[in-house]
Amino acid sequence: MNLQLFPKIDLHYHLDGSVSPVTLIEIALQENIQLPTMNVDKLREYVQVEEECRNLAEYLTKFEISKKCMQSPRALKQVAYKAIEDVSKQNVRYIEVRFAPYLHTEQGLRIDEVVSNVLSGLKEGENDFATMARAILICMRNDSVEKNIEIIEVAAKFLDKGVVGVDLAGDEANFPPDLNKDAFNLAKKYNIPITIHAGEAAGSENIYDAVVNLGAKRIGHGIRLKEDPHLVELIKEKKITLELCPTSNVQTKAVDSWESHPIKYYFDKGILVTVNTDNTTVSNTNITNEYRILVERYGFILDELKEITFNSLNAAFINNNDKQKLKKILEKEYKIIGL
Ligand SMILES: [Zn+2]
Repeated sequence: MNLQLFPKIDLHYHLDGSVSPVTLIEIALQENIQLPTMNVDKLREYVQVEEECRNLAEYLTKFEISKKCMQSPRALKQVAYKAIEDVSKQNVRYIEVRFAPYLHTEQGLRIDEVVSNVLSGLKEGENDFATMARAILICMRNDSVEKNIEIIEVAAKFLDKGVVGVDLAGDEANFPPDLNKDAFNLAKKYNIPITIHAGEAAGSENIYDAVVNLGAKRIGHGIRLKEDPHLVELIKEKKITLELCPTSNVQTKAVDSWESHPIKYYFDKGILVTVNTDNTTVSNTNITNEYRILVERYGFILDELKEITFNSLNAAFINNNDKQKLKKILEKEYKIIGL
């Protein structure tokens, strides 16, 4: 079937890694920002990884230009709105858009201003397109715990006003989860749902720490979980959901090759896996492409894709009312396509 028509959910989507070159140029023109080129195709080379990307560090260099273009209220709103427009074309019915507020304060915006502008862009997008959208605020590993505590405070302020969770991202190899224990204890106190990038650029012990010590209900990637069979059992028992992003995982060398990606292995083991994009621009992908990869490379059948989408639904950080609404929409749409 045409997988574009398949109703989908994306739980792991970075706003700054998903701004199209066209939008970047639009913003640069509006705000007099100097870009290395104003040619869309040439600009693509600056914001998209080559097929042969060496590691996560090289991957992360591709975010520089979007960061430069996401420093004003207007640009933040515009980028958030465009995100919802883009993913609605892929029949995404629900998306959790994540971003690190501190990266957008270079021109003096406060972090709560960053958040409210992104939320208003998401809301406008939600009104114009058939996609429900919520936000996850990212604490950066290389930022101080004090800064990350501020992020948690802002997340608490916007909880149920568009923000549904918090995340920890950045340089995993050099900054283990435990460094941010105080910040995430505070998130637990406020009952803010937690997801943490772990087992992507470092070993399975980070997955253990994220779940057991920091209270993560979901793990970003979790590629290296399979190295520890006891942990596999624990993740299963605790019903922790993995947010896998196959194209990105291959590009950042979280896996050696397409063949060694563990998504099918985890799925067959009964772990709650989901499929996501990570960064549609940097990784040159979209959610339809990721679903297609599951079919073409790993032999998933349509019923299993539906199961994966329902894993995403169950793990979504939205409140129960919204979840029931979304469930009805998905069930109706699956029925129409005979699933
Ligand atoms: Zn990510």
